[in-house]
Amino acid sequence: MDTTQSRLWYERAQAVILGGVNSPSRAFKAVGGGYPIVMAKGEGSRFTDVDGNNYIDYLAAYGPLIHGHAHPQVMQALKAAADDGILYGTPTKWEVEFAEMLRLAIPDLERIRFVNSGTEAVMTTIRVARGVTGRNKLIKFEGCYHGHSDAMLVAAGSGPSSIGVPDSAGVPQTTAADVITVPYNDLNALVDALAVHGSEVAAVLVEPIVGNFGMVPPESDTYLRDVIKVAHQAGALVIFDEVITAFRFHYGSAAQLYDVHPDLYALGKIIGGGLPIGAYGGSKDLMEKVAPLGPVYQAGTMAGNPASMRAGMACLNALMDPKVYERMTQFGLTLEKGILASAAKAGLPVTLNRIGGAFTVYFTDRKVTQYSHAKASDSERFAAMFRGLLKRGVLLAPSKYEAWFVSTAHTEADVVATLKAVDDTFMEMAQ
Ligand code: PLP
Repeated sequence: MDTTQSRLWYERAQAVILGGVNSPSRAFKAVGGGYPIVMAKGEGSRFTDVDGNNYIDYLAAYGPLIHGHAHPQVMQALKAAADDGILYGTPTKWEVEFAEMLRLAIPDLERIRFVNSGTEAVMTTIRVARGVTGRNKLIKFEGCYHGHSDAMLVAAGSGPSSIGVPDSAGVPQTTAADVITVPYNDLNALVDALAVHGSEVAAVLVEPIVGNFGMVPPESDTYLRDVIKVAHQAGALVIFDEVITAFRFHYGSAAQLYDVHPDLYALGKIIGGGLPIGAYGGSKDLMEKVAPLGPVYQAGTMAGNPASMRAGMACLNALMDPKVYERMTQFGLTLEKGILASAAKAGLPVTLNRIGGAFTVYFTDRKVTQYSHAKASDSERFAAMFRGLLKRGVLLAPSKYEAWFVSTAHTEADVVATLKAVDDTFMEMAQ
């Protein structure tokens, strides 16, 4: 596969765009370096790069593209939005319709506010929680990613009482000191942390089904319920970061799958149909603490822009038929079985975590239920798989901590071709 043009564009990019990429996760640093593939066109389940090579896409732009590229209804909505003028800075009917649509799907969202990214959505839920409780501390779970706001770029050392240290330069120590990190799927660690810090904790933040150290579901059906219970006992609010999970597995939230009710939700990715978006919401009482009704401030020039609203509604409309989820799940299952069979044939230790059409392949023979397990999985083997698949025309996210996302655009032929590429790659790796 000739990727010369990608290399040349990347070299040119490096002279003007910091590090050659507009988001660090797009660089190939975690998969042995080199230049990332520069894409020119997306169509359905496939990408074409600047050299004309074709790839089956499981990156899905890190999640939003649940319908693949250029879905006809989303494109139609976008074209109509362009024709009507793309930004108003006034209320529009589309934001009302979209908020109603989200509330119908997720009734906990009694009041919603649209923002422009998942980062903004999470950041604002934190401000609301702090504003409402009058407390500063936050508890998050090791390895969960909640966007790049200061407080969320903190990884605490192990142990329930440990105080966070910044994971990024530029995050004040005082901010980090307010963030406590505990392992996911370990209720006792959360209970212990709340025993030490509980009276100061404004919120416990969680990805209800983790997507950021690979796909990791709660180990028990009661885990999320217990997280909410112990947080509430300490007087803390619970924020579900559903930026990845909302509308991923069914037409609604992950909270609904476990029949639980967090206080606040942060949404993003899928709900924008590929356009920039974020949203947060919760009960009327809590949300009314936000300006213009309440003292917690949040605003946005682009918030609720007509293009994102109309593309988002078209995207969700095309998800209303439960059959689309059944199909993604079926393809996910077929991929899972094939990948595990190829790994066994090649003698490679693989653990595969899958929920519906989203899954992660870890090179380890252990179960992966916490960040430390994902971290301990073999990075070099992941890089070898990534590169082996790339040269065979299958594009994954360049990190062992990300997921493969099956979209509604994937076909049986894509699945067959992917499994052939996986089998050949694993045989090559076994040599
Ligand atoms: N929350 C979760 C769970 C995410 O996965 C991400 C992004 O990957 C974010 C928040 C941040 O969203 P954005 O990149 O739109 O700011």
